Amino acid sequence: MAMRFTPTEMTPAERALQAEVREFLAAEMPTGDNTPGNDRALGMGAGKNKEFSKKLAERGWVGMAMPKRYGGHDRNAVDRFIVVEELLRAGAPVGYHWVSDRQTASVILKFGTDDQKERFIPPICRGELGFSIGMSEPDSGSDLASVSTRATRAEGGWLLNGTKIWTSGAHENDWFVVLCRTSPMEDGNKHQGLSQLLVDLNSEGLEKNGIPFLDGSPGFNEVVFNDVFVPDENVVGELGMGWAQNTTEMAYERGGPDRWLSAYGVVEELMRHHAGTSLEDRAAEVLGWATARFFGLHNMSFTVARMIDTGQAPSIEAALVKEMGTRFEQDVLLRLLEFVEEEPDPGSMLLYQRLLAKAILTGPSFTIRGGTVEVLRSVASKGLRA
Ligand SMILES: Cc1cc2nc3c(=O)[nH]c(=O)nc-3n(C[C@H](O)[C@H](O)[C@H](O)COP(=O)(O)OP(=O)(O)OC[C@H]3O[C@@H](n4cnc5c(N)ncnc54)[C@H](O)[C@@H]3O)c2cc1C
Repeated sequence: MAMRFTPTEMTPAERALQAEVREFLAAEMPTGDNTPGNDRALGMGAGKNKEFSKKLAERGWVGMAMPKRYGGHDRNAVDRFIVVEELLRAGAPVGYHWVSDRQTASVILKFGTDDQKERFIPPICRGELGFSIGMSEPDSGSDLASVSTRATRAEGGWLLNGTKIWTSGAHENDWFVVLCRTSPMEDGNKHQGLSQLLVDLNSEGLEKNGIPFLDGSPGFNEVVFNDVFVPDENVVGELGMGWAQNTTEMAYERGGPDRWLSAYGVVEELMRHHAGTSLEDRAAEVLGWATARFFGLHNMSFTVARMIDTGQAPSIEAALVKEMGTRFEQDVLLRLLEFVEEEPDPGSMLLYQRLLAKAILTGPSFTIRGGTVEVLRSVASKGLRA
C-alpha cells in the first residue's frame, strides 16, 4: 500500500467557514472560569463548558458530518477540520462534546441500531451529551485486545465486571463506550469475542476513582464495574465484532489537529509577549522552526481530511500525522526552554509562563494518549507492507 499526502488548498467556501469561526470566537469565547492559561489545548486539560458546547451546536458545529435526519448537518471531514482547528488554536473549551463529536457519533452511525442512532446522535449534535472512551485497562493499553473486562449474560442484557483506567472525563461525562469480552477467547484468538457496549456513567455498581494529572488537575479516572447491568439494546453493532469496530473508532482519533496543536497556545503567547521587540537569533530560529512545523503539519493533517471526503481510508497517513505531530508537540516545548530565561512558573502573572509550565507537566502524555508513538509506527509499517 502506498502512502500519499497530496497537497490541497482551501476553497473559497472553506475560507469563508474559517472566517466565520474566527468571528464567532472573537465574540463568544467564554471568560471567567475558562482562563485561557488553563484550557488552551486538549492535551493540557480541555476546558469543559456545556453552555459553550450548546452554542457551538446551535451554529451547526457539533456533529457536522452527521446526517440531517439525526440532527446533524451533512457536512464533511474538511469542514469539521476547519472548525476544530480554529477552536483548538483559540483554546476554546470544547472538552464536553469532544469525544462524542470526534468519534462516538460516527461509531454509532456506522455500527449502531436505528434505535441507538435516534437516542444518541441528536443529543450529541445538540452538544448535550458527553462521552468518554472505555478502552484502556490496568493490564491492557497498547495491547488492547487483551482487555479482561467481562460481560456475562443476564436476563435482558449483560452484567459487566472489571476495571477501566485513564478514562478521561468519566467524572463529568454522561456515557462511555466500553470494550469488553462477551465470550471467552477461543484458540488463543484474542481479537474474537470482544464487543462494544454503551454504558451510562451513572449506572448502579459503577465506581469512579479520580486520578490527578502530574500537575494535580483532575481528568483521569479509574472506573470499576461491579455487576453493572447493561441492557441488550446498548450493545453496539454485532456481538463479538468489537475489535474491528474499535479499530475503526481509533482511526477517528488520529490525524486531526488535536494531535499537533497542544502546544500552539504556548508558542503563540510567547510570540505575543515578544511582539515589537527584537528577538535574539536563537529565539528567532526556534520560533521560525515552530511556525514552519505548524504549517507543515496543518497541511498534512488537512490532506487526511480531504482524503476521507474523497472516499479513501488514510489510516497510515493519519497514524504518521499523529506520530510526527505529537513528537513535535514535545520537541517544541524543549526548544522553547532553550531561550526562555525564567524558570517556568505555574503561578506566574505572565500567561505564556503559566502555559509553558502547564505544558511541561502535561507534555509527556502527548505521545501516549490515543496510541503511543511506537504503536503508531507499527500501524504505519504494517499498513505499508500490506
Ligand atoms: C492524557 C491521556 C489520556 C488518556 N485517555 C484515555 C481514555 O479516555 N480512555 C482510554 O481508554 N485510555 C486513555 N488513555 C490511555 C492510553 O490509551 C494508554 O496509556 C496508551 O494506549 C498506552 O497504553 P499503556 O499506558 O498501557 O502503556 P503500555 O501499552 O504498557 O506501553 C508502555 C510502553 O511500551 C511500549 N510498547 C508497548 N507495546 C509495544 C510494542 N508492541 N512495540 C513497541 N513498543 C511497545 C509503548 O509504546 C510504551 O512506550 C489516556 C492516556 C493519556 C496519557
